[in-house]
Amino acid sequence: MADYIKLDEVFGENVFNDAAMQQRLPKKIYTKLREVIESGGELDTETADVIAHEMKEWAMEKGATHYTHWFQPLTGFTAEKHDSFLSTPLESGKALMSFSGKELIKGEPDASSFPSGGLRATFEARGYTAWDCTSPAFVRQDAAGATLCIPTAFCSYNGEALDEKTPLLRSMQALNIQAKRLLGLFGREVKKVTAYVGAEQEYFVVNAEKFKKRKDLIYCGRTLFGAMPPKGQDLNDHYFGTIRQRIAGFMKDVNYELWRMGVPAKTQHNENAPAQHELAPIYTKANVAVDHNQLVMQTLKRVASAHGFKCILHEKPFAGVNGSGKHNNWSLTTDDGVNLLDPGKTPHDNIQFLLILSCVVKAVDRHAGLLRESAANPGNDLRLGADEAPPAIISIFLGEQLEDVVEQLISTGTATRSKKGGVLYTGVNSLPELYKDATDRNRTSPFAFTGNKFEFRMVGSQDSIAAANIVLNTIIAEAFCEACDELETAESFDTALHEVIRRNFSEHSRVIFNGNGYAKAWKEEAARRGLPNLPTMVSAIPELTKPESVEMFERFGVFTRNELVSRAAVKYDVFAKTRSIEAKTMINMARKQIIPAVIRYTKTLAEDINQLKAAGFDEVSVQTTLLHQINRYLTESFNALVSLEEKDQAAADIEDVEKLAAYYINTVVPAMDALRRPVDQLEMLVDKAAWPMPSYGDLMFEV
Ligand code: ADP
Ligand code: MG
Repeated sequence: MADYIKLDEVFGENVFNDAAMQQRLPKKIYTKLREVIESGGELDTETADVIAHEMKEWAMEKGATHYTHWFQPLTGFTAEKHDSFLSTPLESGKALMSFSGKELIKGEPDASSFPSGGLRATFEARGYTAWDCTSPAFVRQDAAGATLCIPTAFCSYNGEALDEKTPLLRSMQALNIQAKRLLGLFGREVKKVTAYVGAEQEYFVVNAEKFKKRKDLIYCGRTLFGAMPPKGQDLNDHYFGTIRQRIAGFMKDVNYELWRMGVPAKTQHNENAPAQHELAPIYTKANVAVDHNQLVMQTLKRVASAHGFKCILHEKPFAGVNGSGKHNNWSLTTDDGVNLLDPGKTPHDNIQFLLILSCVVKAVDRHAGLLRESAANPGNDLRLGADEAPPAIISIFLGEQLEDVVEQLISTGTATRSKKGGVLYTGVNSLPELYKDATDRNRTSPFAFTGNKFEFRMVGSQDSIAAANIVLNTIIAEAFCEACDELETAESFDTALHEVIRRNFSEHSRVIFNGNGYAKAWKEEAARRGLPNLPTMVSAIPELTKPESVEMFERFGVFTRNELVSRAAVKYDVFAKTRSIEAKTMINMARKQIIPAVIRYTKTLAEDINQLKAAGFDEVSVQTTLLHQINRYLTESFNALVSLEEKDQAAADIEDVEKLAAYYINTVVPAMDALRRPVDQLEMLVDKAAWPMPSYGDLMFEV
């Protein structure tokens, strides 16, 4: 790769984007495809054949030998099966290339090994992938050569969703319909309203050689043992600090790869913890943003390896140090480019905005549990509610200005003024006058209004952002729908409009909270307000199948009851399996590495003591005390290890996934903690040279 990147030439060069389509496709075909992209509908075979052929020619010019339907099963990752463009027969000995419309539009991977949560029996293997033509195809270049990747949705033989994308597209469709209805109330006719999303991705980068010496990182993506180094993030000197040269080189290559695939990587900086960083792309349509985020995660990992690093995407790789999340920025924009969440300078007299805002508040309050669930994964259980992440309680931060408007609305029925920002006083007259925003930021809120978008900050760093956006789109579609039902039939539109806004705010204002979400007092206050607090993934999963959730998802055609039940089953299973792998990894590390190393070290100490005594030294109390201390923790570790082994084995007798998940939380996790405690003590006592794996300090400070 060149030392300097010509961004304008590189950006999107490997994407079959609108420009490429216009250039490659006959006008008639291009127009048809555009229409389907914008308004939906089906592509006829003839059109699809032409598109496929041109796409293949384009991809082959970029060196592509294979194509793949790229989809997102319920594993949280992407899946792909590669087919080369070679076609039969090959009798002449010369390679014939082909790629038909049918191959572009529909794929048929064997679905039996993907999680379905009981939607299908294993023998019912058929699954279909279908081209999501609203997310452009791209060529990915890596060790496999170049591959044409076609973003697809993944369904079972009966059309039930087996992936993240199908329900996401359904939710975008539902939101579009209801948002257009809502705008219609104000006499605005638009073709389309789309949810836009920008996901800020946090991650850690560590040295690959050191990573490979830790089985916990290899198998679980996080450490399961590890004493705190003398220095953590105490000084906040890493946050926004100068990016080290080796990391900068890695970031440059990440950007280059992403830009080529059309992912608009924009912001990069050091994050709070040592070795932690962030990357944020420019926001785009929700389904494309979901795809982009998958590409960001994959590219971070791939490029890290090429640089001798490992990228850790886990939510809590190191206990006691900031974990990683993903801020999901969400807004609503019309096809003519108007952001419906932009309040303007005087929100109090922007009645359309106030209606939309009141619907968001209502939706989030009513389905807080569901939104919380959308961010639940086993890793996030270790992060939410700690000092670095929002608590597991959903609340909304509106900021001073909007909260003031809402208060006026609730108390008097109308709002007559908006607080202004004013000028920022720096005390330095050579600095330019800065006009400040009417509202400060609040980084402790799980759901914060940030000027013209909402930032949902609960999503885990390794999770897909699909679930969060499915829930957001659907709950807001529902609130829009209810407002429209009422307003469309109202005798006096203006009176009814004020009434709906006031009611939405006053009935749901309990969810609005502008204070410190990390404080203990907030938990108590939230309980008084009756806000749900679902601290763990397992406590949140039942939200999926609550009657009001099922009713809403079915009404807006996003999930059927069966699909929801199956998703809940998949989630319990994922939770139990994740903890089971972690428990087994701890057992393996303790039995095969840590305890043997400590035994060797105690032997050395004992020999030292004997030799010193033999040499006539009476004073061996330091060595003896140390040996006693180590021996005590060694015994404690061994007992805890045996107990963990027993508890982990007993899990095999539990068949029901829900019970199994609960068993891991209540029984296995405490046993894991009980093993970790003495082992971390041992790490502090034993000679570093004798410890069988790199320490936290080695991993975070010597990248
Ligand atoms: P910060 O960390 O200060 O919140 P960043 O620049 O790191 O801000 O990330 C903000 C994210 O929000 C970016 O991905 C950006 O593209 C996205 N974003 C900005 N405006 C919108 C919008 N209207 N809708 C959705 N996402 C947006
Ligand atoms: Mg950011």
